[in-house]
Amino acid sequence: MKTLVDKLCLKHTLSAEEYRSLLLCEDADTNAYLQEKARQTTIARFGNAVYIRGLIEISNRCRNNCLYCGIRKSNTMVSRYSLSRETILSCCREGYALGFRTFVLQGGEDLSQTDDWITDTVSTIKHEFPDCAITLSLGEKSLATYQRFFEAGATRYLLRHETFNEAHYRELHPSEMNRDHRLLCLEWLKIIGYQTGTGIMVGSPGQTIDHLVEDIQFIERFQPEMIGIGPFIPHADTPFGNEPAGSIEMTLKLISIFRLMHPSALIPSTTALATLSPDGRERGILAGANVVMPNLSPSSVRKQYALYDNKASFGSESAEGLKLLEEQLNEIGYKISYLRGDFVSSNHCHSEEL
Ligand code: SF4
Repeated sequence: MKTLVDKLCLKHTLSAEEYRSLLLCEDADTNAYLQEKARQTTIARFGNAVYIRGLIEISNRCRNNCLYCGIRKSNTMVSRYSLSRETILSCCREGYALGFRTFVLQGGEDLSQTDDWITDTVSTIKHEFPDCAITLSLGEKSLATYQRFFEAGATRYLLRHETFNEAHYRELHPSEMNRDHRLLCLEWLKIIGYQTGTGIMVGSPGQTIDHLVEDIQFIERFQPEMIGIGPFIPHADTPFGNEPAGSIEMTLKLISIFRLMHPSALIPSTTALATLSPDGRERGILAGANVVMPNLSPSSVRKQYALYDNKASFGSESAEGLKLLEEQLNEIGYKISYLRGDFVSSNHCHSEEL
């Protein structure tokens, strides 16, 4: 099985059957070897520096009803908020002073935050912080709207496809949403010129190994600049409230596979990993991730942005916890990079040099 890891490292691709075998492999030596190769590949490409992105959760209102999501429209238990532009700017100011050079504006599909309003907000941030990158994660919009946001100064967009398999997509989403439209949005983002991020939930209800293989092969074709992978974590007030959480081990394995498949990708060690395990973030880094996204949202609203239960948003997950994060990263031989950390494609394969 280690030869499959070597092959992935060298060729950046495997057949569907080979990916399947790797995902099913429970041999501890092979899995450790996979992580080691992924870690070496990350270090060859990025050194031991981990990029930080300041996450600002601008609204927990959403017109959609994704079955797994704690802030879905039908959840009446949530106390809703939308941040004002001034509050978002003060989060950016606080983050800038701490050293952040990327701001990620994430939120539900909140119709009260109109396209005009978001465009103006992006321009205002860009004007005040011209040296910073702005990432948006605001769901599905029209091509024209994505274009306006881009022209206003947002250059990165995160839109996880969650699952590539169409039937599985339907199990996770209400009938008004469809997988093809999600994929179309991703195409638009790439065409416009965004550094585009997509990704999946690991262990979502109904997910099979074959679905994961389809996800891997989609990501291999799509070549996103950013790949977000987190374990599914149930939220009690959703239809999936009693489902088991996804596996940390499988999430780590996928991080390693994506790193070997796409050495220059920006791969976050997600909050969901940190939520499931106290050392989850560090384990994600050791499996090949190279980004963390501490929370810059006002502390008063953090608990209300609960996509799943017990979501980590304090301690080293929060922006104030940067020192703690630095210490945790130091302990595993890494440090924070305060650079913007744009995607840079590599013309040659560093992993081949290992
Ligand atoms: S996952 Fe996103 S689009 Fe779906 S309900 Fe939650 S916030 Fe809305």
